[in-house]
Amino acid sequence: GWCRHDFEYVKELGRTLTRHGEPKVLVTLQREKRTGHLIALKAVDVSLLNWRDQDQLEREVAIHQQLRHPHILRLYGHFFEEGKQYMVLEYAQQGDLFGQLYDQDDNGDELLRPCDEVTAARYIGSLAQALQYCLAESVWHRDIKAENVLVMEDGTLKLADFGATRRSRARRQTYAGTAQYMAPEMRNADSETRLTAETYTESVDWWSMGVLLYELLVAHVPFAILKTDNALNNINDFLADPDAVLLYPDSPRVSDAAKRLVSKLLRADPEQRISPAAVLSDPWIQQGFLDGH
Ligand code: ADP
Ligand code: MG
Ligand code: MG
Repeated sequence: GWCRHDFEYVKELGRTLTRHGEPKVLVTLQREKRTGHLIALKAVDVSLLNWRDQDQLEREVAIHQQLRHPHILRLYGHFFEEGKQYMVLEYAQQGDLFGQLYDQDDNGDELLRPCDEVTAARYIGSLAQALQYCLAESVWHRDIKAENVLVMEDGTLKLADFGATRRSRARRQTYAGTAQYMAPEMRNADSETRLTAETYTESVDWWSMGVLLYELLVAHVPFAILKTDNALNNINDFLADPDAVLLYPDSPRVSDAAKRLVSKLLRADPEQRISPAAVLSDPWIQQGFLDGH
Protein backbone atom coordinates (compact mmCIF):
# COMPACT_ATOMS: atom_id res chain seq x y z
CA GLY A 1 0.00 0.00 0.00
CA TRP A 2 0.87 3.67 -0.25
CA CYS A 3 1.99 6.04 2.51
CA ARG A 4 2.27 9.83 2.72
CA HIS A 5 6.01 9.64 1.94
CA ASP A 6 5.37 8.10 -1.49
CA PHE A 7 4.09 11.49 -2.75
CA GLU A 8 5.38 15.01 -3.12
CA TYR A 9 3.17 18.08 -2.87
CA VAL A 10 2.47 20.05 -6.04
CA LYS A 11 -0.48 22.34 -5.18
CA GLU A 12 -3.77 22.59 -3.33
CA LEU A 13 -6.96 21.59 -5.21
CA GLY A 14 -9.70 22.12 -2.63
CA ARG A 15 -10.57 22.19 1.04
CA THR A 16 -13.63 21.87 3.27
CA LEU A 17 -13.80 23.62 6.63
CA THR A 18 -15.75 22.68 9.74
CA ARG A 19 -18.29 25.11 11.15
CA HIS A 20 -15.46 26.47 13.31
CA GLY A 21 -13.18 27.07 10.33
CA GLU A 22 -10.83 24.12 10.82
CA PRO A 23 -9.71 22.26 7.66
CA LYS A 24 -11.63 18.99 7.81
CA VAL A 25 -10.81 17.93 4.26
CA LEU A 26 -7.78 18.95 2.20
CA VAL A 27 -7.39 17.87 -1.42
CA THR A 28 -3.95 18.38 -2.95
CA LEU A 29 -2.25 17.56 -6.23
CA GLN A 30 0.67 15.23 -5.56
CA ARG A 31 3.29 13.50 -7.66
CA GLU A 32 4.01 9.87 -6.94
CA LYS A 33 7.80 9.87 -6.48
CA ARG A 34 8.38 6.39 -7.92
CA THR A 35 6.44 6.85 -11.18
CA GLY A 36 6.09 10.62 -11.56
CA HIS A 37 2.31 10.22 -11.93
CA LEU A 38 0.04 13.04 -10.79
CA ILE A 39 -2.79 12.09 -8.43
CA ALA A 40 -5.22 13.97 -6.19
CA LEU A 41 -4.80 13.16 -2.51
CA LYS A 42 -7.87 13.70 -0.33
CA ALA A 43 -6.94 13.91 3.36
CA VAL A 44 -9.71 13.81 5.97
CA ASP A 45 -8.84 14.80 9.55
CA VAL A 46 -10.71 12.14 11.52
CA SER A 47 -10.30 13.99 14.85
CA LEU A 48 -12.62 16.71 13.51
CA LEU A 49 -15.43 14.26 12.68
CA ASN A 50 -18.31 13.17 14.93
CA TRP A 51 -19.13 9.44 15.13
CA ARG A 52 -21.75 9.78 12.41
CA ASP A 53 -19.28 11.36 9.99
CA GLN A 54 -16.63 8.76 10.89
CA ASP A 55 -19.06 5.97 9.96
CA GLN A 56 -19.87 7.78 6.74
CA LEU A 57 -16.16 8.20 5.92
CA GLU A 58 -15.68 4.42 6.18
CA ARG A 59 -18.62 4.00 3.85
CA GLU A 60 -17.18 6.56 1.41
CA VAL A 61 -13.91 4.64 1.08
CA ALA A 62 -15.48 1.17 0.96
CA ILE A 63 -18.12 2.02 -1.65
CA HIS A 64 -16.09 4.41 -3.82
CA GLN A 65 -13.24 1.91 -4.14
CA GLN A 66 -15.55 -0.68 -5.71
CA LEU A 67 -16.94 1.63 -8.40
CA ARG A 68 -15.61 1.31 -11.95
CA HIS A 69 -17.17 3.49 -14.62
CA PRO A 70 -15.82 5.89 -17.29
CA HIS A 71 -17.81 8.75 -15.70
CA ILE A 72 -16.96 8.02 -12.06
CA LEU A 73 -13.69 9.33 -10.61
CA ARG A 74 -11.42 6.40 -9.71
CA LEU A 75 -10.32 5.85 -6.12
CA TYR A 76 -7.01 3.98 -6.55
CA GLY A 77 -6.30 3.30 -2.90
CA HIS A 78 -6.37 4.60 0.65
CA PHE A 79 -4.28 4.65 3.82
CA PHE A 80 -4.47 5.97 7.34
CA GLU A 81 -1.61 7.98 8.82
CA GLU A 82 -1.29 10.30 11.83
CA GLY A 83 -5.01 10.74 12.41
CA LYS A 84 -5.81 11.32 8.75
CA GLN A 85 -7.65 9.12 6.27
CA TYR A 86 -6.04 9.53 2.83
CA MET A 87 -7.69 8.71 -0.48
CA VAL A 88 -5.58 8.41 -3.65
CA LEU A 89 -7.79 9.73 -6.47
CA GLU A 90 -7.61 10.20 -10.20
CA TYR A 91 -6.66 13.85 -10.91
CA ALA A 92 -9.26 15.97 -12.72
CA GLN A 93 -7.18 18.66 -14.40
CA GLN A 94 -10.08 21.04 -15.16
CA GLY A 95 -11.43 21.00 -11.61
CA ASP A 96 -15.10 21.03 -10.61
CA LEU A 97 -18.16 22.39 -12.44
CA PHE A 98 -18.69 25.08 -9.79
CA GLY A 99 -15.37 26.63 -10.79
CA GLN A 100 -16.37 26.51 -14.47
CA LEU A 101 -19.74 28.18 -13.88
CA TYR A 102 -18.76 30.85 -11.35
CA ASP A 103 -15.61 32.88 -11.72
CA GLN A 104 -14.34 36.34 -10.83
CA ASP A 105 -13.15 39.12 -13.11
CA ASP A 106 -10.06 41.24 -12.44
CA ASN A 107 -12.06 43.52 -10.10
CA GLY A 108 -13.24 40.56 -8.02
CA ASP A 109 -16.79 40.81 -9.37
CA GLU A 110 -18.71 37.61 -9.99
CA LEU A 111 -18.47 36.31 -13.54
CA LEU A 112 -21.17 33.85 -14.59
CA ARG A 113 -20.28 31.35 -17.29
CA PRO A 114 -23.20 29.09 -18.22
CA CYS A 115 -22.42 26.13 -20.51
CA ASP A 116 -23.46 26.13 -24.15
CA GLU A 117 -26.29 23.62 -24.67
CA VAL A 118 -24.19 21.05 -26.48
CA THR A 119 -21.74 20.91 -23.57
CA ALA A 120 -24.55 20.87 -20.99
CA ALA A 121 -26.21 17.96 -22.83
CA ARG A 122 -22.93 16.06 -23.00
CA TYR A 123 -22.26 16.63 -19.29
CA ILE A 124 -25.74 15.54 -18.20
CA GLY A 125 -25.62 12.55 -20.57
CA SER A 126 -22.34 11.50 -18.93
CA LEU A 127 -23.78 12.00 -15.45
CA ALA A 128 -26.86 9.98 -16.40
CA GLN A 129 -24.57 7.13 -17.53
CA ALA A 130 -22.79 7.24 -14.17
CA LEU A 131 -26.13 7.23 -12.31
CA GLN A 132 -27.44 4.37 -14.43
CA TYR A 133 -24.41 2.36 -13.30
CA CYS A 134 -24.99 3.45 -9.67
CA LEU A 135 -28.61 2.33 -9.96
CA ALA A 136 -27.49 -1.14 -11.09
CA GLU A 137 -25.05 -1.25 -8.14
CA SER A 138 -27.72 -0.04 -5.66
CA VAL A 139 -25.50 2.97 -4.92
CA TRP A 140 -27.17 6.28 -4.06
CA HIS A 141 -24.76 9.22 -4.28
CA ARG A 142 -26.97 11.71 -2.37
CA ASP A 143 -24.74 14.77 -2.87
CA ILE A 144 -24.77 15.54 -6.58
CA LYS A 145 -23.86 19.21 -7.06
CA ALA A 146 -21.51 21.36 -9.14
CA GLU A 147 -18.65 21.08 -6.59
CA ASN A 148 -18.76 17.27 -6.75
CA VAL A 149 -18.67 16.87 -10.52
CA LEU A 150 -15.19 17.10 -12.02
CA VAL A 151 -13.83 17.58 -15.54
CA MET A 152 -10.76 15.80 -16.88
CA GLU A 153 -8.10 17.33 -19.12
CA ASP A 154 -9.89 16.07 -22.27
CA GLY A 155 -13.28 17.44 -21.09
CA THR A 156 -14.66 14.10 -19.86
CA LEU A 157 -17.02 14.47 -16.89
CA LYS A 158 -16.48 12.38 -13.74
CA LEU A 159 -18.74 12.10 -10.71
CA ALA A 160 -16.76 12.45 -7.45
CA ASP A 161 -17.13 12.80 -3.65
CA PHE A 162 -18.93 9.71 -2.42
CA GLY A 163 -18.98 11.20 1.09
CA ALA A 164 -22.77 10.99 1.44
CA THR A 165 -23.24 7.71 -0.41
CA ARG A 166 -25.24 4.67 0.71
CA ARG A 167 -25.65 1.27 -0.81
CA SER A 168 -29.30 0.34 -0.40
CA ARG A 169 -32.11 -1.73 -1.84
CA ALA A 170 -34.74 -0.40 0.58
CA ARG A 171 -36.28 3.05 1.02
CA ARG A 172 -34.24 5.29 3.32
CA GLN A 173 -34.99 8.05 5.78
CA THR A 174 -31.72 9.75 6.77
CA TYR A 175 -31.17 13.35 5.82
CA ALA A 176 -28.12 13.83 3.56
CA GLY A 177 -26.82 16.21 0.94
CA THR A 178 -26.91 19.93 0.19
CA ALA A 179 -30.03 22.09 0.61
CA GLN A 180 -30.11 23.74 -2.83
CA TYR A 181 -29.93 20.38 -4.63
CA MET A 182 -32.14 18.44 -2.23
CA ALA A 183 -35.22 16.55 -3.45
CA PRO A 184 -38.52 17.69 -1.85
CA GLU A 185 -39.09 14.33 -0.13
CA MET A 186 -35.72 14.75 1.64
CA ARG A 187 -36.25 18.33 2.77
CA ASN A 188 -38.17 17.94 6.01
CA ALA A 189 -36.03 16.23 8.62
CA ASP A 190 -36.01 16.11 12.41
CA SER A 191 -32.97 18.11 13.57
CA GLU A 192 -32.17 15.66 16.37
CA THR A 193 -32.72 12.24 14.79
CA ARG A 194 -31.93 13.45 11.24
CA LEU A 195 -34.80 11.31 9.99
CA THR A 196 -36.76 12.69 7.07
CA ALA A 197 -40.55 12.96 7.36
CA GLU A 198 -40.98 10.87 4.22
CA THR A 199 -38.91 7.93 3.06
CA TYR A 200 -37.05 8.32 -0.21
CA THR A 201 -35.32 6.25 -2.90
CA GLU A 202 -32.37 6.67 -5.28
CA SER A 203 -34.53 9.06 -7.29
CA VAL A 204 -33.29 11.85 -4.96
CA ASP A 205 -30.18 11.79 -7.19
CA TRP A 206 -32.30 12.38 -10.28
CA TRP A 207 -33.80 15.55 -8.76
CA SER A 208 -30.26 16.80 -8.02
CA MET A 209 -29.30 16.02 -11.63
CA GLY A 210 -32.20 18.26 -12.70
CA VAL A 211 -30.97 21.08 -10.44
CA LEU A 212 -27.49 20.70 -11.93
CA LEU A 213 -28.85 20.73 -15.49
CA TYR A 214 -30.72 23.97 -14.82
CA GLU A 215 -27.58 25.41 -13.23
CA LEU A 216 -25.39 24.47 -16.21
CA LEU A 217 -27.82 26.28 -18.52
CA VAL A 218 -28.14 29.58 -16.60
CA ALA A 219 -25.24 29.62 -14.07
CA HIS A 220 -27.69 29.91 -11.20
CA VAL A 221 -29.46 27.29 -9.12
CA PRO A 222 -33.25 27.13 -9.50
CA PHE A 223 -35.62 28.22 -6.74
CA ALA A 224 -33.35 30.95 -5.42
CA ILE A 225 -34.39 34.57 -5.62
CA LEU A 226 -32.12 36.52 -7.92
CA LYS A 227 -31.16 40.01 -6.85
CA THR A 228 -32.61 41.33 -10.11
CA ASP A 229 -36.10 41.71 -11.51
CA ASN A 230 -35.98 38.13 -12.78
CA ALA A 231 -37.05 36.67 -9.47
CA LEU A 232 -37.07 32.91 -9.81
CA ASN A 233 -39.63 30.79 -7.97
CA ASN A 234 -39.06 30.06 -4.38
CA ILE A 235 -39.01 26.27 -3.95
CA ASN A 236 -41.91 26.35 -1.49
CA ASP A 237 -44.08 28.29 -3.96
CA PHE A 238 -43.08 25.85 -6.66
CA LEU A 239 -43.93 22.77 -4.59
CA ALA A 240 -47.19 24.20 -3.25
CA ASP A 241 -48.65 24.84 -6.70
CA PRO A 242 -49.02 21.79 -8.99
CA ASP A 243 -49.36 24.13 -11.99
CA ALA A 244 -46.28 26.17 -11.16
CA VAL A 245 -43.80 26.49 -13.99
CA LEU A 246 -40.11 26.80 -13.35
CA LEU A 247 -38.90 30.30 -14.15
CA TYR A 248 -35.77 31.13 -16.14
CA PRO A 249 -33.88 34.39 -16.43
CA ASP A 250 -34.21 36.22 -19.78
CA SER A 251 -30.57 35.68 -20.54
CA PRO A 252 -29.07 33.34 -21.54
CA ARG A 253 -31.99 32.10 -23.61
CA VAL A 254 -32.61 28.43 -22.90
CA SER A 255 -34.16 26.20 -25.60
CA ASP A 256 -37.58 24.62 -25.05
CA ALA A 257 -36.07 21.15 -25.49
CA ALA A 258 -33.65 21.76 -22.62
CA LYS A 259 -36.40 23.23 -20.41
CA ARG A 260 -38.56 20.17 -21.11
CA LEU A 261 -35.84 17.84 -19.82
CA VAL A 262 -35.33 19.98 -16.68
CA SER A 263 -39.05 19.78 -15.95
CA LYS A 264 -39.02 15.97 -16.26
CA LEU A 265 -36.35 15.77 -13.56
CA LEU A 266 -37.62 18.52 -11.23
CA ARG A 267 -40.87 16.67 -10.49
CA ALA A 268 -41.98 17.02 -6.88
CA ASP A 269 -43.51 13.54 -7.02
CA PRO A 270 -40.54 11.11 -7.06
CA GLU A 271 -42.64 8.56 -8.97
CA GLN A 272 -42.98 11.03 -11.85
CA ARG A 273 -39.26 11.83 -12.06
CA ILE A 274 -37.52 10.28 -15.07
CA SER A 275 -34.72 7.73 -14.66
CA PRO A 276 -31.15 8.04 -15.99
CA ALA A 277 -32.11 5.65 -18.83
CA ALA A 278 -34.92 7.99 -19.88
CA VAL A 279 -32.54 10.97 -19.71
CA LEU A 280 -30.19 9.12 -22.07
CA SER A 281 -32.93 8.61 -24.63
CA ASP A 282 -34.06 12.26 -24.45
CA PRO A 283 -33.69 13.91 -27.90
CA TRP A 284 -31.92 16.99 -26.49
CA ILE A 285 -29.32 14.79 -24.75
CA GLN A 286 -28.84 12.66 -27.87
CA GLN A 287 -28.33 15.78 -29.98
CA GLY A 288 -25.65 16.91 -27.49
CA PHE A 289 -23.88 13.56 -27.76
CA LEU A 290 -23.96 13.65 -31.56
CA ASP A 291 -22.67 17.24 -31.80
CA GLY A 292 -20.22 16.84 -28.94
CA HIS A 293 -18.12 14.14 -30.57
P1 ADP B 1 -15.59 17.07 0.38
O1 ADP B 1 -16.01 15.68 0.71
O2 ADP B 1 -14.98 17.76 1.54
O3 ADP B 1 -16.66 17.89 -0.26
P2 ADP B 1 -14.43 16.64 -2.24
O4 ADP B 1 -14.02 15.22 -2.50
O5 ADP B 1 -15.72 17.07 -2.83
O6 ADP B 1 -14.38 16.91 -0.66
O7 ADP B 1 -13.26 17.61 -2.72
C1 ADP B 1 -13.33 18.99 -2.44
C2 ADP B 1 -12.96 19.80 -3.68
O8 ADP B 1 -11.62 19.50 -4.08
C3 ADP B 1 -13.83 19.49 -4.90
O9 ADP B 1 -15.02 20.26 -4.89
C4 ADP B 1 -12.88 19.86 -6.04
O10 ADP B 1 -12.89 21.25 -6.28
C5 ADP B 1 -11.51 19.47 -5.49
N1 ADP B 1 -11.15 18.10 -5.90
C6 ADP B 1 -11.50 16.97 -5.26
N2 ADP B 1 -11.03 15.87 -5.88
C7 ADP B 1 -10.37 16.32 -6.96
C8 ADP B 1 -9.67 15.66 -8.02
N3 ADP B 1 -9.57 14.34 -8.07
N4 ADP B 1 -9.11 16.42 -8.99
C9 ADP B 1 -9.23 17.77 -8.94
N5 ADP B 1 -9.87 18.45 -7.97
C10 ADP B 1 -10.45 17.74 -6.98
MG1 MG C 1 -17.52 17.68 -2.08
MG1 MG D 1 -17.85 14.87 0.99
